[in-house]
Amino acid sequence: MTRPLDVPALRKRIWSAYKRVRPLLFEMLRIRTFLRGSVYELKTRCGQASCVCMRGQLHRRWVLTESVGGRKRLRVLPQDEMELWRRRAEDYREFRRKRAEIVKIVGRMLSDLDAVERAQRRALKKE
Ligand SMILES: [Zn+2]
Repeated sequence: MTRPLDVPALRKRIWSAYKRVRPLLFEMLRIRTFLRGSVYELKTRCGQASCVCMRGQLHRRWVLTESVGGRKRLRVLPQDEMELWRRRAEDYREFRRKRAEIVKIVGRMLSDLDAVERAQRRALKKE
């Protein structure tokens, strides 16, 4: 652990952490529909001997995989919905990234608050 800083420095650090959390919350709470899954292009062979896919030109289609109750669910997406679902998946990843950032910032904020508490307690004892 780092040595406790002086109270004004701790206060400054706590307020700056608070300022960093605020915009994160705004962005997180603004995001619309989430997709807990991913969207990607699936390349397959249909298996018919005469098909172009057997000569390397694979069939391509956009699919969505979603984890529902521990099971992976796969759905073929219409071409015109692909962008929408991709954005929803990205929004979810973004939400989780920001959440992790908030956990880190708030964790440091709490230990700074504890340091303020310790410093203040010591200050009282001296009097
Ligand atoms: Zn084929």
